[in-house]
Amino acid sequence: MKNIVKTSLLVALISVVGYANEHHSAPHWDYDAHGPACWGEFAQECQTGHMQSPIDIKSGKHLPLKGSFVLKMNEDVHTTADVVDNGHAIQANVNNGGKLVIDGREYTLVQFHFHGHSEHTIDGKQYALEGHLVHKSADGHLAVVGVMFKEGDNNPVLDNVLGGIGRTIRIDPQDLLPEDKKHYYHYIGSLTTPPCTEGVQWYVLKKPVTASKDQIKTMRDHYAHNFRPVQPIYDRKLEAK
Ligand SMILES: [Zn+2]
Repeated sequence: MKNIVKTSLLVALISVVGYANEHHSAPHWDYDAHGPACWGEFAQECQTGHMQSPIDIKSGKHLPLKGSFVLKMNEDVHTTADVVDNGHAIQANVNNGGKLVIDGREYTLVQFHFHGHSEHTIDGKQYALEGHLVHKSADGHLAVVGVMFKEGDNNPVLDNVLGGIGRTIRIDPQDLLPEDKKHYYHYIGSLTTPPCTEGVQWYVLKKPVTASKDQIKTMRDHYAHNFRPVQPIYDRKLEAK
């Protein structure tokens, strides 16, 4: 009887290890061997979609923003956020996020994360970092506010985030944004990582914020190449305010 129990345990253990190995060896998307050029293997939309992000923003080639799509932001909320390394970026999962209202629909901030070089480019120029504030509506629609970072003064909010990896921090997400939140580019795009889901309302703020040379280096020590190359705009309209 004892031997049967031992044997069963052993078999169970082998199955668990076997499953773990198999699970581990399944390819997962990344920015290297399984990088953006082959993300279609993980989610078809990444390869075949015609509304993909990021894009190169041509600052002189846009339409005035339609009134109903003007961004009404209320990010000024003191909250806690769990800062994690999600395997692709440093991300803060916000526990009580602020709100955006776009075309009568309300979106709540759920997380923000950082790219070690900007994903959007403006007239071909890539910024030092890009932050994405990801918002979700009750019915599952997404809106992302993009904020560009250029090298300059130390950024206290970034210190808070970088020093808080693996912990819960107190934060006001509005502190991530420039003082001028009224001028931005808008277009309809996608998530910039698999599954590359389309229909995302993108708002890229025109005014960059700063990060010190050390902060940029620290962010890139975690992730330096976690940016997707710009995608064709096809027949989409870029709007600006
Ligand atoms: Zn992002």
